[in-house]
Amino acid sequence: MSNILVTGAGGFIGGFLVKRLLEERHKVIAADIKPIHLWYQVHDCVNHAETDLRNSEACDKVTEGADQVYNLAADMGGMGFIELNKALCMISVLINTHLLMSARKFGVKRFFYASSACVYNATKQADVNNPGLKEEDAYPALPEDGYGWEKLFSERMCRHFTEDFGLECRIARFHNVMGPLGTYKGGREKAPAAICRKVVEAKNAGKHEIEIWGDGQQTRSFMHIDDCIDGIRKLMDSDVRFPLNIGSSEMVSINQLVDMVEEIAEVKLTRNYNLSAPKGVRGRSSDNTLVKAVLNWEPTTKLFDALKILYNWIDEQERLHNERFSV
Ligand code: NAD
Repeated sequence: MSNILVTGAGGFIGGFLVKRLLEERHKVIAADIKPIHLWYQVHDCVNHAETDLRNSEACDKVTEGADQVYNLAADMGGMGFIELNKALCMISVLINTHLLMSARKFGVKRFFYASSACVYNATKQADVNNPGLKEEDAYPALPEDGYGWEKLFSERMCRHFTEDFGLECRIARFHNVMGPLGTYKGGREKAPAAICRKVVEAKNAGKHEIEIWGDGQQTRSFMHIDDCIDGIRKLMDSDVRFPLNIGSSEMVSINQLVDMVEEIAEVKLTRNYNLSAPKGVRGRSSDNTLVKAVLNWEPTTKLFDALKILYNWIDEQERLHNERFSV
């Protein structure tokens, strides 16, 4: 049993990670800037801290006494957020920097950093038939502006804290993670949640149309949250000091994603393509050769099954919302 700090614990991945660590009988401190009533999951037997981790004293306070730190806190969202809020995304560098300094100060044994596929060189993602990004494709550096640069810089800082100060860091490059109990509206949601919500809304309104960002031919891969948590735990317990892809290699176009959601919802919608909306790179997927070799891990949940879980959860949230606000 270890004392473990999880930051960003009020968010999507953090909430599920805290749950897993409690199941494994660890003692957890859960920290997030959000007021606790806005956390996606609040678990019993956890020490909760509502605190702004851009501040070094706040980082010291939650880190003291921890054996391990999982840093999942970041000001982030889907393409709609990160393309329009580059400075806010970059300010998250303060969170990881101060947490690393606190971890060093208090002798933390292991530190996890949540990086992203947005660190990969943009020129390697210009084709919809992307064969999958290998870890080496992050260099020469040309990451997503703002958010991706912050992630790449923080990865490097973790690496040098290991090399220079002996702090053991583990770095995951998450490709899109999806599942219930996350953001599905408000502007920070990612493609699977946005599409499921739009289909639910179209069905509920009887207006059989959907707006799609871009031409729908851009490709991505999406990983179910349970697979993500398995990957995080395997990586943290391993001796792998270099960044690893934690993502799915099941690549689909956004049009194929919409096909699947339509099948789940048993509806057919007219597609309106918004070519001026934020759309990100043309093709992105995860090459899992390295992660399979070193962790003997890769996701097992099929995209269609993961989408069904997400769609049903969003459908239920919308039903509850409409009940609450109907007279
Ligand atoms: P999320 O937005 O649901 O969770 C992040 C949490 O960090 C939020 O609850 C937020 O309130 C908190 N936070 C932000 N600023 C803070 C601050 N100053 N102090 C304390 N807490 C702060 O996001 P998520 O999907 O759970 O992502 C977790 C991590 O994984 C993030 O670092 C993100 O960049 C990374 N990531 C996620 C995905 C994905 O598909 N979800 C993909 C790539 C990388």
